[in-house]
Amino acid sequence: MTSEEFIGVIEQAERFYDKKLAQDQRTIWYESFKYMGVSRFKFLVSEWYRRFDYFPSLAKALSLDQEIGYAETKPKLKEVVKCDICQGKGFVCYYEVHNGYQYRFVARCNCLNASEYMKLPSLAQVGLEEAELLRKRKAQKEKAQALDVNEIKNQIKKFLGIKENE
Ligand SMILES: [Zn+2]
Repeated sequence: MTSEEFIGVIEQAERFYDKKLAQDQRTIWYESFKYMGVSRFKFLVSEWYRRFDYFPSLAKALSLDQEIGYAETKPKLKEVVKCDICQGKGFVCYYEVHNGYQYRFVARCNCLNASEYMKLPSLAQVGLEEAELLRKRKAQKEKAQALDVNEIKNQIKKFLGIKENE
């Protein structure tokens, strides 16, 4: 954080505890915390308010930073379960033609990845069948793999100086 950001937060703490750090103290404090992002520092100071009745010493403030760790400021990683239908996305795109125009729609998958898409219609509601979707995915995958193999074959032929279709 910048020294301006630091001063903004530390002045708030000074008002809260009705205690002012001397200028040289502030400089030492800033040197100790400047590698920290301002949001982390704000979080740390809000923990002082909950835990300390007095303005903490620098040693206390630093050890509290160690103690509370980083779990509380990191966003939780979303858990993804393996799903061959939506490939972990939780929803499936499908297309319908209306009046000659192709429209893209989305439906909620039946797996756990869909928990945040409960407002979307389910696969059954839009008339999509799991087995059919799986069959399509498999066909797409095989097609992609076949393309890869042909591409490699062509590269080898090119390298060996063999003309196409030989
Ligand atoms: Zn799924």
